[in-house]
Amino acid sequence: MSRTYTTTGIILKRRDYQENDCLFCIYTKDFGKIEVVARGTKKISSKLKGYLEPFYLVKLMIAKGKFIDKLANCNTIKSYENLRADPSLLGFALINYLAEGTDGLISGHTSQSDKFNLLIETLNILEQEIAKDLQEKKERLLFISSIYFLKLLGLLGYQPEIHRCVLCHKGILLTKNIFDFSKGGLVCEDCKRVCLIEDYIRVSDGVIKVLQLAKEKSLDYFVTLPVEINDLKALNKVVEKLILVNVERPLKTLEFFRSI
Ligand SMILES: [Zn+2]
Repeated sequence: MSRTYTTTGIILKRRDYQENDCLFCIYTKDFGKIEVVARGTKKISSKLKGYLEPFYLVKLMIAKGKFIDKLANCNTIKSYENLRADPSLLGFALINYLAEGTDGLISGHTSQSDKFNLLIETLNILEQEIAKDLQEKKERLLFISSIYFLKLLGLLGYQPEIHRCVLCHKGILLTKNIFDFSKGGLVCEDCKRVCLIEDYIRVSDGVIKVLQLAKEKSLDYFVTLPVEINDLKALNKVVEKLILVNVERPLKTLEFFRSI
């Protein structure tokens, strides 16, 4: 078996490891989430240092190790400079939100590249959108991220029920419905009385429509989709809670994004 392998990946996070080394958690196209050690990367002189910023899209050569694999070489493919250099800090906050959420939802190795491609598509769209003068820019950018997470949850098998009431199984008739997080989907007006108020959010017809569209349409469809500001906010809230239920802790990076 080859002692080295190559792949493409997005750096999700780094942490110090021993005196001069760093451990990188990298989401790769071919192997899912992996952890590799990069020797000497805490030294200013390390030739790898410049390629290893969080959320760089990188080409990697990795050497198999007995206990942990080692980064042998690395080249930047794309650094998402618009997001990184955005003076409002929204871009920086979004990158970190995507990294923390993706890291929390995806566990272990997988050879399927669909989720990786979805993340790259999301980053490419956000890289363009951050440079535009958009109305309700903050909620709109968060909305694109929310659609990403909805699609990711679907690919991971955590698709919430958004076409039928999770309790009586009747089709949702688009009035006065709620999204119940402990039950995993929409609950109709008739069944609502058995739900605990702290576990649900009231959702408008517009929000339900977007939840349904997120399953069917590609990500770029949502870039120009007209959505009322209240529905944008509500949809973002639903996705925030869906992530919370699945990751089992609030994301610090989303708190930071909202604080800007
Ligand atoms: Zn029902």
